[in-house]
Amino acid sequence: MKGTVIHAPWDVRYEDREDPRIEEPTDAIIRTVATCVCGSDLWTYRGLNPIEKPIPMGHEYVGIVEEVGPDVRHVKPGQFVIGAFFATDGTCPICQAGYPSSCVNRRSIPGAQAPYVRIPWADGTLVPTPGMPDRALIPSLLTLSDVMGTGWFAADAAEVRPGKTAVIVGDGAVGLCAVIAAKQMGASRIIVMSRHEKRQALAKEFGATDIVEERGEEGVKRILDMTDGLGAESVLECVGTNESMMQAIQCTRPGGHMSFVGVPHGVSLDGRLLFYKQIHLHGGPAPVRRYLPDLIQLVWEGKIQPGKVFDLELPLEQVAEGYRAMHERRAIKALLWPDA
Ligand SMILES: [Zn+2]
Ligand SMILES: [Zn+2]
Repeated sequence: MKGTVIHAPWDVRYEDREDPRIEEPTDAIIRTVATCVCGSDLWTYRGLNPIEKPIPMGHEYVGIVEEVGPDVRHVKPGQFVIGAFFATDGTCPICQAGYPSSCVNRRSIPGAQAPYVRIPWADGTLVPTPGMPDRALIPSLLTLSDVMGTGWFAADAAEVRPGKTAVIVGDGAVGLCAVIAAKQMGASRIIVMSRHEKRQALAKEFGATDIVEERGEEGVKRILDMTDGLGAESVLECVGTNESMMQAIQCTRPGGHMSFVGVPHGVSLDGRLLFYKQIHLHGGPAPVRRYLPDLIQLVWEGKIQPGKVFDLELPLEQVAEGYRAMHERRAIKALLWPDA
């Protein structure tokens, strides 16, 4: 088969790769129905993560189970499934406690931007949908593999509550999905920090009540002005830069909750600032596997439509254009169809 491989910064190729096969008895092989480019793939694309040898890319996918290993009990060939962006056993104490993304047996997904992908720990990682979805549902189901699950974790970890204020730092796909989550959790005021017109419009469609365009000190001042000088009860950091982390911490009121779900790059925090801010901090790689059953239900019933974050759809073989368009911020998120 062919698949997506990055050779060096800016050098994404759709090229011959070995067909995936069952390597361990707990593996499944999925025929990919849809996959996409992640904001975190761009860190590699831009040369901010080392590329020592060519890396097969992609960790967000939905598809049909083609084959399972002899120890797979629950996942069956022919099922339409969604899996998290890490493969996890589902049975270790960390998985059982609700943090599968830190599973002691965690594996990465070996290159889902391809027509077929091997999924380790199939039983722990994959969740079947109630039936074969309409094509119109597929983009929304695909977001559950990462960005919608991550946005949900951002809201959950920041303890968004009915009647309270949530501030979302970041207007990428995760930040926009976090708006959906905050709305579902009943926040009465949802403030999105964004200076990008198209993304502001989508944030409002998803339930944002206010947009703040200012950043840094100016942005913090605006949030404080809007919250009686106290800061918000819940702040969701969805970027991962030092600036966005500082902005989020400063926007959180003492006793409030701040989540951080953007993979940190160049973040270093000041201990005294954290001490005197007196806020709850909770973040990390989102345990999206924990949320999959509930989020599948919400999408299936048409209650949420996170698939709207995809504003570019391409045949999988044009994957390199997907990376370029997202890097240049021409697209929020690029969906790739293997069968187009
Ligand atoms: Zn991702
Ligand atoms: Zn585990």
